[in-house]
Amino acid sequence: MAVGRIIKALSGFYYVQSNEGVYACKGRGVFRNKNITPLVGDDVEFEVRNEDEGYIMKVKDRSNELIRPPVANIDQVCIVNAATSPELNPLLLDRFLVLIEAKHIQPIIFITKMDLATQEEIDRMKEYQSIYQNIGYEVKLLSSKEPEWISEIIPYFKNKVSVFAGQSGVGKSSLLNTLDPNLYLETAEISKSLGRGKHTTRHVELLPIGEGLVADTPGFSVLEFSDLEAEDLGPCFPEIRLHMSDCKFRGCLHDKEPKCAVKAAVNDGVIAEFRYQHYLRFLEEIKTRKPRY
Ligand code: GDP
Ligand code: ZN
Repeated sequence: MAVGRIIKALSGFYYVQSNEGVYACKGRGVFRNKNITPLVGDDVEFEVRNEDEGYIMKVKDRSNELIRPPVANIDQVCIVNAATSPELNPLLLDRFLVLIEAKHIQPIIFITKMDLATQEEIDRMKEYQSIYQNIGYEVKLLSSKEPEWISEIIPYFKNKVSVFAGQSGVGKSSLLNTLDPNLYLETAEISKSLGRGKHTTRHVELLPIGEGLVADTPGFSVLEFSDLEAEDLGPCFPEIRLHMSDCKFRGCLHDKEPKCAVKAAVNDGVIAEFRYQHYLRFLEEIKTRKPRY
């Protein structure tokens, strides 16, 4: 049996990349009974039929999956922010980080449009870089207009399946286009010249970038903590995760509780005040969430 990974799903065919090339496969076999729909990103076993066709016989267990875009086995989410127009929004960045941490996926932070930034903005971005790197995140400053900045980030895609995330206009499509000069994704200018808004992609595809794969559709378009309980939030902040075992009370939510090691770390300046404030804000959001029926 051959093995490979689904890189595209279109019109009833799953395109499976294996060492021997790409095979257009139909689904068949045990996963049908188990009610599994193969997803882009799935590792599969398949039976070769013709030169470039086959049947998927087995879908291997997934490490994770997203609904939008429908991709499985994601290794890394690249959160794209801009240094300016629009300037990096730390509340939004932390929201993305929490959603990604909650899925146990590795985030990496990109800050684009450095070529447009004023000295003041450059200083501020470097400050964010140092704060987030202290927490343990990789932070890369770059410009999609200056490809020499890009070669530095290519190694971060090696042997990984990555998904981009970030608000509209920060430069996700431009970055992908610069990463792969053969790509031609629709950026703001292209949509404008065509007289339309960016069209939503009808299917998702994993594109080869360097020695890795990147989804051509951004993820985390829904930014609500709908699957998260209050006690799950702390562990989604690495610096809170680091201190919470020293809190006096089990189940401490690091809010009004006495003898809280997290609040002590905030007071000592070990945890950035704004990160803690975002934590409290998200906690409130989760607590006041309307129950879903
Ligand atoms: P997306 O919505 O996140 O995919 O953003 P786009 O890639 O469409 O970019 C939005 C706008 O920012 C476009 O006008 C891009 O040309 C511009 N842009 C993106 N990245 C950069 C960059 O690094 N430098 C400069 N100068 N402009 C950029
Ligand atoms: Zn606590």
